Amino acid sequence: MKFSTSTHAVRIRRTFEMLKSQSYEGVSGVLCIDSGVSGPVVGMTACTHGNEPAGLAIFAHLLEDMDICNTLLRGTLFLVVNNVGAANLFFDLTAQGKDTSVARYVDINMNRLPKDVCTNDADTRYEACRTRELLPLWKRFDYGMDVHSTTMDIEPMIISKGDSYALELARGFPVRKLVSHIDRVQLNTPVFAFYGGTHAQVCAIEAGQHEKDTAYVNATMCAKAFLQNAHMLSGTSHTQITEYREFFIDGSVVFDDVSYDFVTLFQEEECVREGQVLATSSIGLPDVRAPFEGVLIMPSTKRGSEKIMGEEQSFISRPMRVRRV
Ligand SMILES: [Zn+2]
Repeated sequence: MKFSTSTHAVRIRRTFEMLKSQSYEGVSGVLCIDSGVSGPVVGMTACTHGNEPAGLAIFAHLLEDMDICNTLLRGTLFLVVNNVGAANLFFDLTAQGKDTSVARYVDINMNRLPKDVCTNDADTRYEACRTRELLPLWKRFDYGMDVHSTTMDIEPMIISKGDSYALELARGFPVRKLVSHIDRVQLNTPVFAFYGGTHAQVCAIEAGQHEKDTAYVNATMCAKAFLQNAHMLSGTSHTQITEYREFFIDGSVVFDDVSYDFVTLFQEEECVREGQVLATSSIGLPDVRAPFEGVLIMPSTKRGSEKIMGEEQSFISRPMRVRRV
């Protein structure tokens, strides 16, 4: 079924249009649901990348199926479309039947924000301005979850800030894979690093492949469990995960020149040896080698001019370890 005409697509677009028309303290794309009972402030953020609508599937489910405006038990819930501009582009391209991958962002990747984005008013690129607009709201989050999806059909993941994520907040997520420490290794700053104060618990999820029903289902189950774990929704998830496969990111592959390509189509979680040649340059630049024995996480399948330069082509994790809860 083609995304542009599926029932899901219609509902997600409707949800986007509704969210876009909402504003909170003058900031558009934000819906504030206040239970009227004291409790934590939770932020759920969708479309940090415009072509990743799984977060909108969460909003549709909470609003239309769960009547969250009347069923939230305590605290305040913010539903936020982070990158309204890129999501607009995504829905326009979808309606025209065109390739939506270019709708990842308008000017800059909102998950690779410059370190000075909060203070540099001279940076007028769309995502930089949107970040400064949303910052006061993001800062209020006690708990935050940023929702993503992937180009490849890979297992869903929890992405933790550093390696200190409180996994009790992830109780009931249909996710067994934990990617930690990526924010300390990646280029620039991911958006969730701006959420909350020092004691806030924030994470991102990679829910599945873009525009796939399974990604929507995974994302929605995670969101419900997250709210239940924060005692803001009744009930508990039936999913019980007691062991996580943790991948502690300690390196990445970045190509300095477009002439580089991986030597093979590396698979997700492919093990590499220290010193193994990962990529070569067609103009004779030095080989890119694995810096340590580890595991490739999210290796790009793009080659030649299709590669997104200025972003990691892969992350490299230390050997997988099991974390029990
Ligand atoms: Zn993303």
